[in-house]
Amino acid sequence: MDVKKAADSTIDDTELSKNLEDLTVDDSHETKAANGKKRKNHRGGQKKRQKDGQTSSQGAAPVKLYEVRETGSKGLGVFAKCAIPRGTRIMCEPALLYIETAYMQFMHILFYKLSPADQAKFLSLHGIFPKAQKTIMEKVLRTFKAEDPMLFAPPIEDHLRIMAVVKSNSCRTHNGVAIPYDLGRINHSCLPNVHHVWNNMIERATVHAVQDIAAGQELLTTYIEFCQPRAQRQSYLLQRWGFRCGCQACKPSSTFGKASEKRRKRLSDIRKFLESRKHITSMKARTSDETALAAAIEFAELLQEEGIHNMELATAYEDVANINLNLGNPKVAGEWQGRAMEVAAACAGTDYDTYSESEATMAKIQQLMSQGQARKPSDLPPVDG
Ligand SMILES: [Zn+2]
Repeated sequence: MDVKKAADSTIDDTELSKNLEDLTVDDSHETKAANGKKRKNHRGGQKKRQKDGQTSSQGAAPVKLYEVRETGSKGLGVFAKCAIPRGTRIMCEPALLYIETAYMQFMHILFYKLSPADQAKFLSLHGIFPKAQKTIMEKVLRTFKAEDPMLFAPPIEDHLRIMAVVKSNSCRTHNGVAIPYDLGRINHSCLPNVHHVWNNMIERATVHAVQDIAAGQELLTTYIEFCQPRAQRQSYLLQRWGFRCGCQACKPSSTFGKASEKRRKRLSDIRKFLESRKHITSMKARTSDETALAAAIEFAELLQEEGIHNMELATAYEDVANINLNLGNPKVAGEWQGRAMEVAAACAGTDYDTYSESEATMAKIQQLMSQGQARKPSDLPPVDG
């Protein structure tokens, strides 16, 4: 069935379909740091598309550096086949299925257009619906079926299975979601050794090593916002994916686990404080900004202590750079911006959506430095531009 035609048919973009999107799609394979910028920074028509497994500007793997196999306790997992240095692009895969937001309620049609082999791969991915959401979804589907029995002909259980896989494995793209396959096999840790993201520029899911990884080591990414106390993380993981995390940060009685819990609570407090300062536009608040600068530096240091080396760290460094820029310290801003760009390149590659913006910020900083005349803070743009 033609999807466009289906979209134009009897089902309007009702409150029900909005419910469907809200219930089906969340940030299952995106971290907040990556999400924060990518939508507004997508630039259509400037794609540097690359073929699967071929090198990007970052340098991708010509052969698979990983294998999927049983973990013993967590089902399937992804393991390094050889030593992988930090910054290596380990995965660069297209999606099995793309769903534009406007066609969200027709995801089953897109699914049935896949080859039988790809349908089987898709359905082999983990998919789970929290019970309450499942009940609402059943109600939504019954309404859809009543309105258009032909279009929603498959049994409700089949719809729910497809939706559950989307819910548990989707990456947000600039105009909807994508469901890659191998990425869906990477298990979670609150202390990830890889960073994954959907790259709108090349329309691929990429996974990079954020630390040196030994041969045989499991690749672990984070599914969740890391600035949460342990109980909150565990509760969310259990509800959303049906498992409890057993990483070092989730061991309450270990020395590291105790220190981690304190750090994450502090990180959460600092983040709230910084978010409340992000929209400062007047440098009359210079004193407050210096407080924000100290907080932003503490935030970055705590991330390093905790062992979080993914895009969150790049964002933290960039925050310090921006605050310094606002305070009229371009030289110091340049140092932090350089660190931010090094981490961002290691986590997502230089072809990632927002990298050129970071380059533009750096160029602006360098221009200010070469002029040797840091403008007065009040002449500079606000922290988040
Ligand atoms: Zn954990």
